[in-house]
Amino acid sequence: MDRIIRATAASGAVKMAAITARDAVECARTIHHCAPTAAAALGRTLCAASLLGNALKEEDASLTLRIRGDGPLGGITAVSDSRGNVRGYVDEPETDLPLRPDGKLDVGGAVGRVGTLTVSRDLGLREPYIGSTALLSGEIAEDVTAYLLESEQVPSACALGVLVDTDATIRAAGGFLVQLMPGAEERLIDVLEENIFLMDQVTTVLDEDGPEELFRQVLKGLEHHIVSEEPMAYVCPCSRERFARGIASIGREALEELIGTGEDAEVRCRFCGKRYVYPPSELRSLLDSLS
Ligand code: ZN
Repeated sequence: MDRIIRATAASGAVKMAAITARDAVECARTIHHCAPTAAAALGRTLCAASLLGNALKEEDASLTLRIRGDGPLGGITAVSDSRGNVRGYVDEPETDLPLRPDGKLDVGGAVGRVGTLTVSRDLGLREPYIGSTALLSGEIAEDVTAYLLESEQVPSACALGVLVDTDATIRAAGGFLVQLMPGAEERLIDVLEENIFLMDQVTTVLDEDGPEELFRQVLKGLEHHIVSEEPMAYVCPCSRERFARGIASIGREALEELIGTGEDAEVRCRFCGKRYVYPPSELRSLLDSLS
């Protein structure tokens, strides 16, 4: 089952969250018909957004993570609610590159190494809180770590992985984010760095042992306990009404023009692929509702 688990270690000086999201990433792959490299890039971004979104305290808050590099993939967008439920898309889902010499999917090559990572937190206030940093490698996890340090001054380590099976379906997906609280002892950095350096690959751990094993390996030698465990999924909150409001927002004149064509207006949700059709009669009542 897809879920986010949180733990604290070293008397609260270290906080760690891990996610396992095979089903959510498989859902994204299916909706967008992603080739393996694109599926891995989108999957890692969805996992990162979910981990960051799940940390939001406000119930109705949401977080958008955007990655735009100079590679063939174009941009990646992932949106999470405050529970960690995510949705997202990539500009060029058919992107597929040869495997790297070490046998891994070339996510950095697909994303590109020059570009930006932008995080937008919508906390229900008038303006969202937006932060942005330059991409470091396009491998996503390193870029998220750089963002957290540069833009939010939080020292952290992040690993994300998507394992694509031989039949192109997602076999494992997830990762972790570990953060050092202000005032944490220096030696904790060394312990964590050593543990992360020596640990197995994230997708191997998730595939063979499950997310609990990530805590055992990353927090090895530190006393830790699990503080929460919550389910997450690929969820799109789109609806007929929501898109109708979007159509209405084009304004009276444009709407009248649209009705004048006598044709149905059709919209397709970028996140879940669902199609909504609005016949002229319905557009007419949208227009009436504007006055
Ligand atoms: Zn949708």
